[in-house]
Amino acid sequence: METLVPEPTPEPAERLFFQKLTLPPGAIPLSGALVTVRPSGVNVRVEPSLLAEKLGKAEGNTRLAAAGLIFSDHTWLLVSWPDSAASPDAWIAGEYTDFSRSRAYSQVSDEWYETEAVLNFRRSLVRDLLRVRGADGARIAQAERLSGAELTAFEDSLTRPTIPPAVARFWQMREHLGLPDLFDLLPVHTAPPAEIETLEFSGFGPNNFALENWPVYYEGTRGLHNGVDYMVPEGSPLIAVADGQIVPFRFLANAAERSLALRPYLPEQYRAADGSRLLSNVIVAYGHLTGDPTSQLVKVGDDVRAGQIIGTSGWPVYIREDGGTEIQSNNAHLHLEVHLVTDGTRNLGSRTPLNPLLFWSPRWIAIQARLAARSGHAPYPASGQPWGRLGFFSLGGFSYEPSSIVWNYEPTREALWPPGVYDLDGLIALAQTFAPYEA
Ligand SMILES: [Zn+2]
Repeated sequence: METLVPEPTPEPAERLFFQKLTLPPGAIPLSGALVTVRPSGVNVRVEPSLLAEKLGKAEGNTRLAAAGLIFSDHTWLLVSWPDSAASPDAWIAGEYTDFSRSRAYSQVSDEWYETEAVLNFRRSLVRDLLRVRGADGARIAQAERLSGAELTAFEDSLTRPTIPPAVARFWQMREHLGLPDLFDLLPVHTAPPAEIETLEFSGFGPNNFALENWPVYYEGTRGLHNGVDYMVPEGSPLIAVADGQIVPFRFLANAAERSLALRPYLPEQYRAADGSRLLSNVIVAYGHLTGDPTSQLVKVGDDVRAGQIIGTSGWPVYIREDGGTEIQSNNAHLHLEVHLVTDGTRNLGSRTPLNPLLFWSPRWIAIQARLAARSGHAPYPASGQPWGRLGFFSLGGFSYEPSSIVWNYEPTREALWPPGVYDLDGLIALAQTFAPYEA
């Protein structure tokens, strides 16, 4: 363990000890990770478990250096506790610190996909896909042992053929539109120790949330939900889904809301004459970041890497009838939108959100489909609306501009959707009319 340099702070509660700590097997090493204990304080234990013996209590606002992490019943951080007679090695639950909001979390975000809970989930998906393809037991058992890059490649090979042909057609316009690489990261991780199965979401377009709530919330958007909602607790780490830049972008109607927008780079091979990377035509917008406290991990103009923690999820803010603002603290979730900022002949700017799932890699589409199938709240209504059964890719995008309410539209055989609402074929037809993107 390298020696860490404590940051100078006058806090009397500061307890930074940098003895050599022993990382047990399975622990993820952390380097230079400083965490601050939440006001309630946190018990210090001899092992990474709620059942383990207590060594003492770290009071609120104590700052501690964490040398490693284990995901189990909590996010256990290895810290030094010299009060202990035997060894200074001790463990605290990271949930009682600011760890998930800290830059230190970025050191473990990649490992999240390799944690036991997520691996089990991913392997169960692979098992089902193999069964559908008639694979024998030995082949399935072999797949059960995969992890790391091997598992990712296997997921990729199994899931790529299941993507609807229209999605592939959209990506054939990649150079025309100036699209980045497919995103291979979720925009949010469930705050440990929650398992991935608990991650619920609502989809884009006419989904269950919009169906139930359009008379209240959706007059201006024709009854359509303009992003994908990930139901996660306040404080959950937000992940940059691609290499890119943090840019200014207004997409939430309420100016009191906190948000972040990421403009991914074009793929590596497209570069400017001076070798620098070029920005794509896509903006990924993360909404409802107002939290307690609001995290400020990046600012406009920052360059970020795929997988980096760029902020934390929070609550929506709404405007009351008297003009005041109020936090919806019973409605924590991430609202994620994707926009194409082409200056094509019919501008697809900030008034026309696209289906975010169009931009994810097939393996993440499959993983999200499995999450949706297991959830008690399916993201799309199967009945009770005029369009028949809806799925992830029912809609490619829609425009806010026409003011009639989509729910009042009477679908016909020729026109399932009203003008301004684009199924995938309609979106592709529209995009083909744009002037090509010039890298
Ligand atoms: Zn939303």
